[in-house]
Amino acid sequence: MRITHHLDATTILALASGTLDEALGVVAASHVWWCGKCRAALKEAERLGGVLLNRLTGTADQPSAGEGGAAAGSGEPQALAENIGLPLPVVSRLGGLSLSDLRWRWAVPGLSLHELAVAKGGKGRLFLLRMAGGAAVPQHGHGGEELTLILRGSYSDRFGRFAVGDIAELHRNVVHRPVVDKNDNCICLVATEAPARFTSLIMRMIQPFVRI
Ligand SMILES: [Zn+2]
Repeated sequence: MRITHHLDATTILALASGTLDEALGVVAASHVWWCGKCRAALKEAERLGGVLLNRLTGTADQPSAGEGGAAAGSGEPQALAENIGLPLPVVSRLGGLSLSDLRWRWAVPGLSLHELAVAKGGKGRLFLLRMAGGAAVPQHGHGGEELTLILRGSYSDRFGRFAVGDIAELHRNVVHRPVVDKNDNCICLVATEAPARFTSLIMRMIQPFVRI
């Protein structure tokens, strides 16, 4: 796996301090599961956070936040994650199913979704998005932060090409139009703070019905 798109430093800090919303946190931690570079950055952020906290409160070692617990987990879930070929934070939400066993809900031609549960009170939404090879997602902007991790296949937009392991951080008001590479389906793990804002009137009209 050759990862070229990484988490922003601010997202790593938020993950380390435990302030990232659950849905965004699952996607960020899943990237960290695969990415040695971001894992090192997270460890450093946790260490600095601990040092700062100790200085502010005068207390001894604090338990670390973020993925520390998951990464240190015992053999069995780790083996399951390796078996399915997905990061543990994703696998633990699939109830033992693989991506092909999931029930996908058709949204628009070339696009299906599988919703993943987040705790009540979480403002974000977490879902798997399956896009057919060659499909173009209609141009849209974002009402809030959006984190996307590529699990299978690849797509390109104006920010470059995104393949397995890459993360796309899209900030509020950023507009893009992802196009999936022709030969294979692309499956992504997506967390959004707010619904996508489609540029086309037609897409805005059907959005409430297809729930994307
Ligand atoms: Zn990374």
